[in-house]
Amino acid sequence: MRHGKECGAGAGRGDHEEDHEGAALTKEPARILVVGGGYVGLYTALHLQREARRGEAEIVVVNPEAYMTYQPFLPEAAAGSISPRHVVVPLRRTLGDCEIVVGEATAVDHAARTATVKTLAAEEEGTGTIDIPYDELVLAPGSVSRALPVPGLADHGIGFKTVEEAIGLRNHVLEQMDIASSTRDPQVRDAALTFVFVGGGYAGVEALAELEDMARYAARYYHNLRPDDLKFVLVEATDRILPEVGEEMGRYAVRELRGRNIDVRLGTRLDSCENRIAVLSDGSRLPTRTLVWTAGVKPHPVLAATGLPLTERGRLKCTAELRIEGVEHAWSAGDAAAVPDLTAEQPGTECAPNAQHAVRQARVLAGNVLASLRGKPLQEYRHRYVGSVASLGLHKGVAQVYGKKLKGYPAWFMHRAYHLSRVPTVNRKARILAEWCLAGLFKREIVSLGSLEHPRAEFELAAGTGRHPEAS
Ligand SMILES: Cc1cc2nc3c(=O)[nH]c(=O)nc-3n(C[C@H](O)[C@H](O)[C@H](O)COP(=O)(O)OP(=O)(O)OC[C@H]3O[C@@H](n4cnc5c(N)ncnc54)[C@H](O)[C@@H]3O)c2cc1C
Repeated sequence: MRHGKECGAGAGRGDHEEDHEGAALTKEPARILVVGGGYVGLYTALHLQREARRGEAEIVVVNPEAYMTYQPFLPEAAAGSISPRHVVVPLRRTLGDCEIVVGEATAVDHAARTATVKTLAAEEEGTGTIDIPYDELVLAPGSVSRALPVPGLADHGIGFKTVEEAIGLRNHVLEQMDIASSTRDPQVRDAALTFVFVGGGYAGVEALAELEDMARYAARYYHNLRPDDLKFVLVEATDRILPEVGEEMGRYAVRELRGRNIDVRLGTRLDSCENRIAVLSDGSRLPTRTLVWTAGVKPHPVLAATGLPLTERGRLKCTAELRIEGVEHAWSAGDAAAVPDLTAEQPGTECAPNAQHAVRQARVLAGNVLASLRGKPLQEYRHRYVGSVASLGLHKGVAQVYGKKLKGYPAWFMHRAYHLSRVPTVNRKARILAEWCLAGLFKREIVSLGSLEHPRAEFELAAGTGRHPEAS
């Protein structure tokens, strides 16, 4: 039995052909489609390619980029401590036995076992999308920033989930310092030197702390900027930050940030940011050219185009075996999936969206896909959250792991050691370690390469067809 559709992403799906008594006559490889090449996608495909028997499975991975992003290193990439190329893992090299399709799944018809995928080629050819058939579906598109309907946010907000955003933000911050240094208008200078971050989870706090550290260091190279001229503000709606490291360590992090002259506003919301003025719920108005939005994530919107069962919050309803509830041959894990936390005291608790669960779930998921193909029993996912580590800039950090609390240099060291051990491939580990060692010997990089975002600008200017981007 074949579903017959062929696509640019390889041959049609292999199915198990059976005679009238149900015994397998020929067994074609099962076609496993992995949507998403992040934590879950990469690790699931990696385990599958290692553990599947010869001829047992064909693995196709669809991801909008040809790389996986190791998100916990984005703040260090923004600070210039790790180069952007080293926080991403090339899918083609790491998943040598898989077929990689660079594209974006836009819909899934699970009854027909087909995913619709938008690729660059299909767009250029005007065909729009291709159909990829499969036997087993692993749906792991992760999450997207949870933007709220705050006036002006869509126009001025900057997210912090991708390597492009992290490097764009680094360039932007340094560019604001260049603007402040060269303007004679005190209002422009003030707005350029005010950096507002909304959201006190690890993404927001680490991004703010690393960038503040880097920017104040860079200020020493400007003849007319002092480190204290830079104003960093952290806006958090609840009364604490970094809930992942526990209450006591969260309070320590607030003290540490305030001690560095960072304005931490707890119990405060961003009400609007129109005309580049951040208006906060405590009544303050902060003219700013930098508004970073890291106030949480929500499941990827593509899930709504799959017809698969979702929770109220839009995550895929999953069983502890990482199957999508009530559906055969469909699996999920990570930020996109509502997986029951079997270690929680309160029934109905879901595993939190973080890398700790994503990596471990991927291993169980891959094992279960293979077990189901082999007719073997499935394993339940069970992992008790062990705590978290967070960096607060160079040589500063906070951690709570297995109940052990650490702060300052030991926590920072643990953060680096932990993530170095976790980042995929020996190649990445070696490159990152080399960068850290070199950074210990030389001074920090402080240039903005924002012009990389407009590579044709100089030539267009020479050809008389364009305007210099700075002129706009
Ligand atoms: C700045 C930052 C720091 C973090 N630090 C930590 C930390 O210290 N500790 C921790 O535990 N967690 C941390 N996290 C959270 C952690 O990174 C996520 O929980 C984890 O990445 C979830 O894995 P995932 O595979 O579900 O999603 P992701 O890793 O986000 O992967 C999803 C993939 O799917 C792709 N995709 C999206 N839509 C489609 C589509 N339509 N078709 C095909 N592919 C698609 C995406 O491009 C992406 O590659 C951090 C997150 C951020 C943003």
